[in-house]
Amino acid sequence: MRELQEKIEQYGTVLPGNVLKVDAFLNHQVDPELMLKVGQEFAKLFADEGITKVWTVESSGIAPAVMTGLELKVPVIFARKHKSLTLNQNMYTADVYSYTKKTTNRISISKKYVDANDKILMIDDFLANGQAVEGMLEIADQAGVDVAGAGIVIEKSFQPGAQELKDRGIRVESLARIKSLADGKVTFMED
Ligand code: 5GP
Repeated sequence: MRELQEKIEQYGTVLPGNVLKVDAFLNHQVDPELMLKVGQEFAKLFADEGITKVWTVESSGIAPAVMTGLELKVPVIFARKHKSLTLNQNMYTADVYSYTKKTTNRISISKKYVDANDKILMIDDFLANGQAVEGMLEIADQAGVDVAGAGIVIEKSFQPGAQELKDRGIRVESLARIKSLADGKVTFMED
């Protein structure tokens, strides 16, 4: 997506450890017009899938997920993150390791908002090693709901998440695909 790529070129900075900082429009300050376009794009890509709900993980996935839900006219659920190991019978849970933060979070979705007939679209801000999406897939599996695929704002294609998901037959649609962050420079994949 051209506008997204331009924003990354203009505002993205590369941090040590192959982390792209996009606090100017996605991870801290949010650009609502860009997020609306992101949501419209995901809605278009998954228009024929019969999606009933959009799932994401708090907090950075919420902005693009809400815009996608708005366009698809379906509810949006953000899995909550907990450090504690609280068990709750009314929740589906999965453990997600974050390579950027080097911590494991338990993510959970209330059974109250899951319907056995749901077909879900997973949205996230970044796809790196794929742990966040794997966590949502684990919950989808527990809940027995269908999964249409994953809509990713920024895919770091040099990390294994995207390929691993595709190898498992999961549809992955990424609006910006980064080939490398080497030497502090953002290089995009050529489509
Ligand atoms: P994964 O679970 O695919 O390894 O990583 C996905 C999560 O890690 C995203 O939800 C995002 O919060 C965070 N993340 C991974 N890589 C980056 C990055 O380069 N920049 C930022 N800002 N977040 C990242």
